[in-house]
Amino acid sequence: MTKANHSMCAKCSKLVCKKELQAEDNLFSEAPEYCPMKLWSEVLKEALEEYKKDENLEFARLASVQEFECYENTPQGIRTKHPRIEELIMFAQKCNYHKLGIAFCSGLAHEARLLTRVLEKNGFEVVSVRCKVGAVPKEEIGIRPEEKIAGPEKWESMCNPISQALILNAEKVDLAIMLGLCIGHDTLFIKYCQRPMTVIAVKDRVTGHNPLAALYLSSSYYSRLMKE
Ligand code: SF4
Repeated sequence: MTKANHSMCAKCSKLVCKKELQAEDNLFSEAPEYCPMKLWSEVLKEALEEYKKDENLEFARLASVQEFECYENTPQGIRTKHPRIEELIMFAQKCNYHKLGIAFCSGLAHEARLLTRVLEKNGFEVVSVRCKVGAVPKEEIGIRPEEKIAGPEKWESMCNPISQALILNAEKVDLAIMLGLCIGHDTLFIKYCQRPMTVIAVKDRVTGHNPLAALYLSSSYYSRLMKE
């Protein structure tokens, strides 16, 4: 149970933040106690100052334009129109990026090849680094024989997200793209990547890399997720 003095937007139905700017009095009367606009007003001011910096202002503007371009107004109402791969291409073009770097999981090598082909066809230079780069045995980070996936006697290269990040840093890619890194490995990649970065897909071995599928089924086939 999360305490009431923490930000909990996910539980909110008031959505004061989506309405026209409110006078502070209205905000305080309408927003829930756990609203970060009440709890963290100084931080919000600090964030607004960050947007004013040259390096962020144009980037934030382009990201918002990109968001806008993913919808179209039709007589039937607003429709979406671009899958994320197209969105990636469009945004990279907007930012005038030329060199893109893919950090991918070995389990998604086919997808990495497809993504490379698509990006190259769209005029980008594409470099890529597989998670097993370095061929470092898992024993190096303290993995015991019985913790190896293929079996205790087999060689297993460890996933090496720090190297993936450092190589893409050294390649000076304009944009790093994470493709299917595991939970935890992705955390390390994010920690060490010093280039602008986005995610095209996250790893989910069971659902075809769609982790939300288990959430959508959490009242039926994955009801175990809701058990205390
Ligand atoms: S910012 Fe405040 S009003 Fe908006 S969703 Fe979060 S709690 Fe609700």
